[in-house]
Amino acid sequence: MESTKTAMEAFEKLEKVGEGTYGKVYRARNRATGQIVALKKTKLHEDDEGVPPTTLREISILKMLSHDPHVVKLMDVKQGVNKNGSTILYLVFEYMETDLKKFIRSYRQTGDNIPPKIVKSLMYQLCKGVAFCHAHGVLHRDLKPQNLLMDRKTLMLKIADLGLARAFTVPIKKYTHEILTLWYRAPEILLGATHYSTAVDMWSVGCIFAEVVTNFAIFAGDSELQQLLQIFRLLGTPNEEIWPGVSDLKDWHEFPQWKPKLISSSVPNLDQDGLDLLWRMLQYEPSKRISARKAMEHRYFDDIDKTNL
Ligand code: ADP
Ligand code: MG
Repeated sequence: MESTKTAMEAFEKLEKVGEGTYGKVYRARNRATGQIVALKKTKLHEDDEGVPPTTLREISILKMLSHDPHVVKLMDVKQGVNKNGSTILYLVFEYMETDLKKFIRSYRQTGDNIPPKIVKSLMYQLCKGVAFCHAHGVLHRDLKPQNLLMDRKTLMLKIADLGLARAFTVPIKKYTHEILTLWYRAPEILLGATHYSTAVDMWSVGCIFAEVVTNFAIFAGDSELQQLLQIFRLLGTPNEEIWPGVSDLKDWHEFPQWKPKLISSSVPNLDQDGLDLLWRMLQYEPSKRISARKAMEHRYFDDIDKTNL
């Protein structure tokens, strides 16, 4: 990690492209090479001794995972000082022109659906990137369209914002509660499970799949309870029979009773193979939910050219 006051003079900031939980993201140009990059600026607390553990974790995880074509590449990390004398960290990423949220929105605005072949390619790339993270013991825990960067021309998709990722070692430890965006949050988290697994990411992948097909979030709750009720309305209110142990979860209580509907009622424009895969991603019981690795082998993906993905 370079540590000079002038480290950032190497880059010319062009414009702000995003703002998230941890800091601002700028499009910038490397003055020496002309290369366009994304600079993620994270301010460190003045009272902090050195770099916060969350940032260090993101850096080491990203470095390890950057080797996958479907994880955004961390090119460099630079440390600087701002006017007030507090430490600034700049993460230098490869620049990606858009993200899946914007990509979906552009289709929604014209009332078109994303062509099925593109849906399939995006979902395959997502499963592949997630499989890579999981194979390296990393849960993303915040998979959502705005954290999936894209190149409009090549339609390459890359997973970003692994800030909340945390290497998990077996046995799975207790994780903090408030982490996923509501719409993509797995039911076990909503019900207060304290031990969770790679299956939480696969639930998010399922929600993203449905959204890429229809242009609309499949479960768009505005509170934890509403989020659960949205899920229950489509998939049926879970019980001990279909999800053993559900009533032992911390936040379980009596809910309105709904019978499961066909997923096709919410995602009408998806073919049978796609619906089967989506159904496997939206299993209530986390251990029954399909893994990213298995999803890649699903027959839905049989007819795409995987050589460049
Ligand atoms: P946060 O932890 O703050 O959510 P993200 O890494 O998700 O940070 O970045 C916030 C936003 O900035 C993203 O949703 C995206 O629009 C934009 N962004 C992030 N990384 C890049 C990149 N490498 N290239 C282009 N835009 C990016
Ligand atoms: Mg983000």
